[in-house]
Amino acid sequence: MIFLTKGRLVTVAEGVAQAISRYTTGSEADREAGGILLGSYRGPHIQVVRCTVPMPGDRRSRFGFVRRDRGHQLAAEGEWLESAGAVSFVGEWHTHPERHPTPSWVDRRSWRKQMESMTRIRWCFL
Ligand SMILES: [Zn+2]
Repeated sequence: MIFLTKGRLVTVAEGVAQAISRYTTGSEADREAGGILLGSYRGPHIQVVRCTVPMPGDRRSRFGFVRRDRGHQLAAEGEWLESAGAVSFVGEWHTHPERHPTPSWVDRRSWRKQMESMTRIRWCFL
């Protein structure tokens, strides 16, 4: 799966798309679900190769997902070590159990912060 936004490509591995789509149908679709996205930055582009899915310590409800389980962090550290630093946290995902999902103000704030931190990171490498 490939997305193009403002000159940036985001590629999402098939396994990641499949893992996330499991939380958009059936009884899993009644509550929000989420996890983190792991991958690599390729210049301005992002390649998502793995993700985590809801874990027992997370809080899921109709109107919210709170990532609390330490397993997400452990998964990120494991991937980072296994890939010798090539794969790391590149973002997060969550579902909205509604027919026409729209981002909440919390989502928009989170995206803005993420984009600001990416700008800072790139600036450091200039
Ligand atoms: Zn949201």
